[in-house]
Amino acid sequence: MKATISKSCMGDRNCNKLCPEVFEYNEDQLLSIVKFDEIPKHLEAVVRRAAAECGADAITIEE
Ligand code: SF4
Repeated sequence: MKATISKSCMGDRNCNKLCPEVFEYNEDQLLSIVKFDEIPKHLEAVVRRAAAECGADAITIEE
């Protein structure tokens, strides 16, 4: 599974709080980034939850 974050990220850092192992806030770009190319299996569920909860609908999941 892959996850990407679009430029519509509003930087509220909700995903970072939910799963700091995967999501990191980039102070230069003012948006969150995904630390993995391929999401580790044991983190897939929480990444799906972050995508569902993202208020900007900025996280795209690719299976
Ligand atoms: S939850 Fe969505 S809007 Fe908030 S920082 Fe993460 S990607 Fe950006």
